[in-house]
Amino acid sequence: MRKFDPHLILRPELAELKAYSPLTGNFEVRLDANEAPAVLSAKAKKRLSQVASEIDYSAYPDAGQKELRAAIAARMGLTPAQICVGVGSDELITLLLTVMTRTKSKVPCPTILTTTPTFVMYRLSARVRGQRVIEVPLDEQWDIDVEGMKRAVSATDPNVIFIATPNNPTGTMASHDRLIELIEATPSALIVIDEAYIDYASRNHVALLSQYENVVILRTLSKIGFAALRVGWLAGSRALVAELDKARLPYNLPTHSQKLAQVALSELSEEIDATTTLVKNERARLAQELDSLPGVRVVPSEANFLWLELEQPAESVMNALMKQKILVRSFSGRGGRLDRCLRVTIGTEENNQRFLDALRRSL
Ligand SMILES: *Cc1c(COP(=O)(O)O)cnc(C)c1O
Repeated sequence: MRKFDPHLILRPELAELKAYSPLTGNFEVRLDANEAPAVLSAKAKKRLSQVASEIDYSAYPDAGQKELRAAIAARMGLTPAQICVGVGSDELITLLLTVMTRTKSKVPCPTILTTTPTFVMYRLSARVRGQRVIEVPLDEQWDIDVEGMKRAVSATDPNVIFIATPNNPTGTMASHDRLIELIEATPSALIVIDEAYIDYASRNHVALLSQYENVVILRTLSKIGFAALRVGWLAGSRALVAELDKARLPYNLPTHSQKLAQVALSELSEEIDATTTLVKNERARLAQELDSLPGVRVVPSEANFLWLELEQPAESVMNALMKQKILVRSFSGRGGRLDRCLRVTIGTEENNQRFLDALRRSL
């Protein structure tokens, strides 16, 4: 057998990374991944099965994603040429970072800017591509530190800025004035506004697309009941979408994902609304109950999860919950104030209640 050490040719940044692997294990209540509760009706499932049964398995998917782009554009009030669909919005993040790779004069390698804490895929996807990641901590209220961000923009001239709003894991939105101030101060980077949780929020940023050509929006079906399909999209200028289409794998999105996503968007919007309404009502109920617990502060959330600031270490509470077969998300490995925070996804009324009872026993 010939020996070969792949590290001789692997990108050195891989040495610092770990594969993204959600905790497995035998949990009765999983509130760790920000999925929507599984409340799709039998009628909706039957319609999806019927559409799936008509797929021509011998044919490649539609490389132009024509019908799905049209359904998304209609939902957002945009044109199909402004939409690019990926295998989850994760794929669009990787696609942007694959093409926006100029080395500018101020720094030795392509750089991205984001906040911390935020969605981990920005950092991971950038590091996999050998890019530098600048992270500016959120302020006391978990809002963007616009002065810090502007300083980072002028010091490092990033190619791409990622702002998740509502943000994961904090559930907070970037305040509008600060976001605009950042965009105004950044004429030479692409500003990616990640709206993965927008269906749970009080406002969105679509209007910015007609004011700033360097703004794009990411959306996904994953947090509103269709994570299994892996469908996410980018909305932006026609010119940018045309460039992304050159780098996108032509058959990236399988036929069943295209067709079922189209059904979800064009026929099941009432069911999606019912799900988001259920979650928002439960979010209000749970937040109120949690806030009355000693040693727990609930950060006001515009997403389908709550961000809890605890008086005791999150690690020990998380472990106590796990012993009761309930899984939430802790970020305590990362240190600082995150050591006392937990993220809990809003689930069904029953699961939320089980979490609440278990938490009372764990504090
Ligand atoms: C979950 C999440 C996504 C990922 O969405 P997919 O479409 O499932 O890839 C993107 N951005 C944020 C902020 C998220 O929390």
